[in-house]
Amino acid sequence: MFSTGRQTCSRTFGLLRRLKSTLVIAEHNNEKLTPVTLNAVTAATKLGGEVSCLVLGSQCAKVAEEVSQIKGVSKVLLADSDVFKGFLPESITPFLLATQNQFNFSHILAPATAIGKNVMPRLAAKLDVSPISDIIGVKDDSTFVRTIYAGNAIQTLTSNEPVKVITVRGTAFEAAETGGSAATENVSADAVTNDLSDFVGQELSKSDRPELASAKTVVAGGRGMKNGDNFKLLYDLADKLKAAVGASRAAVDAGFVPNDMQVGQTGKIVAPELYIAVGISGAIQHLAGMKDSKVIVAINKDPEAPIFQVADYGLVQDLFKAVPEMTELVGK
Ligand SMILES: Cc1cc2nc3c(=O)[nH]c(=O)nc-3n(C[C@H](O)[C@H](O)[C@H](O)COP(=O)(O)OP(=O)(O)OC[C@H]3O[C@@H](n4cnc5c(N)ncnc54)[C@H](O)[C@@H]3O)c2cc1C
Repeated sequence: MFSTGRQTCSRTFGLLRRLKSTLVIAEHNNEKLTPVTLNAVTAATKLGGEVSCLVLGSQCAKVAEEVSQIKGVSKVLLADSDVFKGFLPESITPFLLATQNQFNFSHILAPATAIGKNVMPRLAAKLDVSPISDIIGVKDDSTFVRTIYAGNAIQTLTSNEPVKVITVRGTAFEAAETGGSAATENVSADAVTNDLSDFVGQELSKSDRPELASAKTVVAGGRGMKNGDNFKLLYDLADKLKAAVGASRAAVDAGFVPNDMQVGQTGKIVAPELYIAVGISGAIQHLAGMKDSKVIVAINKDPEAPIFQVADYGLVQDLFKAVPEMTELVGK
C-alpha cells in the first residue's frame, strides 16, 4: 500500500493531534462560568490537539451548557456531585487524578485563580510532575512563557514532563469566542470521597460592579485614600465609568477595603483597557498586577511617585480635589 507525501503528512498530523489532548478545568459558581475560563481555553487551543473542558461542581449542568458553546472546545466533561460543594481541593484532586487516568491528557490547564492555584500544585504533586504556573505565553506544546521576580523578568521554559500541569494568567490571552457546539459527556464522581475537609459555608461579597479581574476599567485606591470611608469617592467615579474598584496592599492591610480588592503580586492580576491609580505610589509589587493595562492614569500629589513612570497620563494633584472633579465631569 502506497501513500502520497501529503497523505502521510496529514495522517502523522492527525496522530499528533490525537496524542496531544488538553483538558481545561472550567471555573464557575455552579450558575455561571467565570470569564477567565475563556482565556484559558485560548491558551489551550495554542497547544494544538483536542481541547476538552471539565465542569465539576454541584447542580452545575447550566454551566456545562454554557461551556459547550465555547469555540475551540470539542468535548465537555460534566461531573455533577455534592462532593464538589465549596470546590475543596481535597475533593477535586482525587477526581482529577482519576479523570487523568481515564483520559490520559497531555496537558491539564486551569486559570491562575485562587482555585487553580490551590488545586493544580496538588495535582502535579500526585502526578509526580512539576507544575508550570501562571503562563503568559505558549511557544509550542512544551515551551511556555511566564514572568518571574514580580514581573521584572520573563522566563521561557521547556518542560519534558509527560503531562503538563499548567495555570494560565487570564489577562495574557484573549477570551475564546462563543458559537461552538461541543458534546457533553457525564463523568461519575461516585468514587470520590473526602475525609480531610468539610465545606461549612461561605459569605461572598456582593457587588453590582464588574468583576475586578475581568473589568474593562478599574479605579484603584492606595494608602493616599487615608481611610475606608474615602473609598466612596472611588465608588462614585467607578459607577459612572462602569468600572471595578481595586486597591493597593497598603490600603487592604490598613483595613480600608477587603483583601479581594487587592491588585498586585500577591493580589489579583488585571489588564483592563483603563486603570486609574489614585493615591498609589507604584511599588513594584503593585505594578506586577496592573502594568499590562492598556492605558494607565495616575493621580498622585507627589511628582516623584514611581507610578508616573508607567503611567500614560499623570495628574499631580491632591486626590480629594481631583477625583470629585473627575466624577463630576464624566458623562457630561
Ligand atoms: C512580598 C510582598 C508582596 C506584596 N504584594 C503587593 C500587592 O500584591 N499589591 C500591592 O499593592 N502591594 C504589595 N506589596 C506592598 C508594596 O511593596 C507597597 O508597600 C504598596 O503597594 C504600597 O501601597 P500604596 O502605594 O497604596 O502606599 P504608599 O506607598 O504609602 O503610597 C501612597 C501614595 O499616595 C500618595 N498620596 C497620599 N496622599 C495623597 C493625596 N491626598 N492625593 C494624592 N496622592 C496622595 C502619596 O504621594 C504616595 O505616593 C507587597 C510587598 C511585599 C514585600
